[in-house]
Amino acid sequence: MKPSFYQFTLPELQELFSKNNLPSSGPGLLFNWHYKKRRSEPCVVDLAKKSIRYVSECLDFSLPIIDTIKASEDKTVKFLFKLQDGLKVETVLIPFNNKYTICLSSQVGCAMKCSFCHTGIQGLSRNLKTEEIIGQFTESQKWLTQNRPNDDKILNIVFMGQGEPLHNFDAVKKACEIFLTKHGLCLADQKITISTAGYLPGLERWQDEMPNVNIALSLHSPIKEKRDQLIPINKRYPLEEVLKYVEAIPNGKNRFVTYEYLLIDKFNDSDEDAHLTGKLLEGKNAYVSLIPFNPFPGSPFKRPIMEKVKSFKLILDSYKIPTLIRATKGDEILAACGQLNSKAPAITP
Ligand code: SAH
Repeated sequence: MKPSFYQFTLPELQELFSKNNLPSSGPGLLFNWHYKKRRSEPCVVDLAKKSIRYVSECLDFSLPIIDTIKASEDKTVKFLFKLQDGLKVETVLIPFNNKYTICLSSQVGCAMKCSFCHTGIQGLSRNLKTEEIIGQFTESQKWLTQNRPNDDKILNIVFMGQGEPLHNFDAVKKACEIFLTKHGLCLADQKITISTAGYLPGLERWQDEMPNVNIALSLHSPIKEKRDQLIPINKRYPLEEVLKYVEAIPNGKNRFVTYEYLLIDKFNDSDEDAHLTGKLLEGKNAYVSLIPFNPFPGSPFKRPIMEKVKSFKLILDSYKIPTLIRATKGDEILAACGQLNSKAPAITP
C-alpha cells in the first residue's frame, strides 16, 4: 500500500524527497497546494516532472469520506466520517460569531471508560492515523467553503471528540505539527488544544515531544472517590501526579491550563465540591470550563439546573479563578461534549 501524503510532516516529506533524489523545493510546494490552497487534485504547478511522477505513483491522497452530516439550528455541524476500513468517526464544527472551532476525534471509540461519556461505552476499536486526523479538518473545511462560503473560517482546533488524544500520542503529535506548519495550514499554536482525561504516559512525553499547543485536563472532581468513579484511570494515574505534569506545560505569556469540570446533578455540583475545586486551583495558571452534563440515551446522570451551575461559578470566582460556563451547542443532534458515539443508531433532529 502506498503511504498517505497526509501522514507526513514537512521535514519527513523533505527527507523522503531527498532519499529519492527529488528537488528540495517539492515538499513546500505540495504543502502549499494541498493545505494552504486546499486543493484535492494533484499538484502540477511549479513541481518538477520527476517529482510529479513520483508523487502520483508513490503517494496516496485519499482521505476519510463524509458519510452523513447533521446540522443543527445553532449552526453546529456534525460529520460522520467513513474511514478506509469502513469504521466511522465523528467530527463537530462549533460556531462562534460566524467562525468555527473544530472538535476532532483521535480514536475510533475510546479505552478510558469514563462513566459519563457516550464514547466511553463504545470501547476502543483503534487509533486514528495522522492522515485520518488531518482529513477530518481538511474535509470539514472544504464542506464549509462549499456550503457556507461567507463564514468558512475554522480558527481553533480542539481534540475533544472521540478518543483520548494522549493514548494516540504519535499520530496526534504529528497532526499538530502539520497543522502548525508555515507552508501548510499555519495555525497559531495557541489555537490548538488537546484535552486529556489525565493519561499519564502521554503527559510524561509532552514536555519533550509535543509541539507548543494548549492543554486541557478533564478534572470533574478534586475528590479522589468521585474522580475514580467518573474517570477510572484516576485509580492508576492519580490526580496529584497528573497535576505535576499538567502544570508544567503552559508556555509563554498568558498561557494557562484549562480545567474542564463536568457538572452532574447531585453528584459533584455542591458548594463543598466548588470550594474544594477552588482551593485546589487557587493561585495556579488555571482557567475553568464548566460543562453541564449532556445526557445521551441510557446515561445514568442528570444535568443540574442552571442556578446550580451559576452558583458553582460564583464560588470559583471568589477564589479568583477565571471560569466560563460552556454553552451547550448541537445537543439536539448529539454533537455536544460526550455525546459522540459513531456506533449509536442515527437520530433525526
Ligand atoms: N478524552 C479526552 C477528550 C474527550 S471529551 C478527555 O477526557 O478530556 C472532551 C470533554 O467532554 C471532556 O472534558 C469530557 O470529560 C467531556 N464530556 C464527556 N462526556 C460528557 C457528557 N456526557 N457531557 C458533558 N461533557 C462530557
